Amino acid sequence: MAYSDHDGNVYDYPGLEPAFRTGKRFVGLDAGDLIKLPFGSYLFSLPGRLPVYREAEGGGFRSIDRRQGVPMLAASAFLASGYLRTHLPAFVKTAGAPVLPMWAYAGVAISGNDFLVPAIRIDEDPRSDPAIHRNDEELAQAVSTALIKFPGNRLVAQLSRCSTDYRCLCARNFFLQRHEAPVPSSPSCNSSCVGCLSRQENGAPFPASQPRLDFLPTPEEISEVIVSHFQAVDAAVASFGQGCEGEPLLRGNNLAAAVRMVRERTGRGTININTNGSLPEMVSLLIDSGIDSIRISLNSPSRQYYEKYYRPSGYGFDDVRRSVGIAIERGVFVSLNLFFLPGFTDMETEALSLMRFLDDFPVNMVQARNLNIDPDYYLEFIGFEESDPLGIPVLLDMIREKRPGIILGYYNPPRERFGAVQN
Ligand code: SF4
Repeated sequence: MAYSDHDGNVYDYPGLEPAFRTGKRFVGLDAGDLIKLPFGSYLFSLPGRLPVYREAEGGGFRSIDRRQGVPMLAASAFLASGYLRTHLPAFVKTAGAPVLPMWAYAGVAISGNDFLVPAIRIDEDPRSDPAIHRNDEELAQAVSTALIKFPGNRLVAQLSRCSTDYRCLCARNFFLQRHEAPVPSSPSCNSSCVGCLSRQENGAPFPASQPRLDFLPTPEEISEVIVSHFQAVDAAVASFGQGCEGEPLLRGNNLAAAVRMVRERTGRGTININTNGSLPEMVSLLIDSGIDSIRISLNSPSRQYYEKYYRPSGYGFDDVRRSVGIAIERGVFVSLNLFFLPGFTDMETEALSLMRFLDDFPVNMVQARNLNIDPDYYLEFIGFEESDPLGIPVLLDMIREKRPGIILGYYNPPRERFGAVQN
């Protein structure tokens, strides 16, 4: 078992078998279910939470609060991009335990000198591997070159802040001229997601992770960013809909104008939109203008959980379904961006709901991402009705069986890889 002290140091507790969690249940795991902590992952101590171990006799679960008189806290890992956690950390909350900030908490254990985590590498694409982002000097040079090249382009100025202050790996890739460039454009949103990374209401139990864009980039500023990326990068992707903005479909007319401008200048690159799928008509307009792919985000394929989490304003789950249908019908590459929480996403009722959704909407790809939120806060907020967990690997196999040609991954692929099943 791994645990932390109150100074954030993480220790092993020889003799105590680690426990993990799925939904609201504690479970034990075998060594084969664990991988070494990926490079660039973080370790957290969990305030107000006691670690839980599995008893050698009987296999029951117990919490522990002290070791040789020193108070203990539960420990957790936050995985580097491209990895999907299969289990949560096991802990018992003490009175007055604070709500945790927005990270995707995974279980962690220790073997010898290694930290081990219940996780799967879900995408081999290296674009956000921390190992290729240890280049701040090179980045600083690239940022100043771009700021000189695009004077007055507010979007380039925004991305320079994103790449440095917020350490956005996508924005770093724009300046370093590789992989996928982010193209934020919308300060407002018609959803109010419980776990929104860029806007949290006053009184929310956790802060937003980064400030939201506060201006409206013009089609000219947008197309300039995309064209420069496509001209510099082979198999490039440029994506509307980023963590530092609201909903891009609300700027559909401007984005369509920008896409047309791009396509007048270059046929290279993949134009993608990450969206909540709220406005089917705007989806059609953007497809008419020339986008290549669309990624629609869901915390759940079930109406009740979707609407509890997204708290949509002026649209509903049927609009999202219509957008997916239109995109499939029109032949663009369609991804579901499904936020995974172990014990919820893979519970029997949710798994069946997802299979029905895939029957109705045979998408090209499921991007499996870890939901960044306090698991207890989330489950309570959405009115979690527990059913038996199948296990994340089992759910992934069910998706593969249901849709043999589907891509399971994490990142928006360039069109050169639309047909490549990588799982
Ligand atoms: S759709 Fe995106 S921007 Fe809008 S509330 Fe949800 S997470 Fe935030």
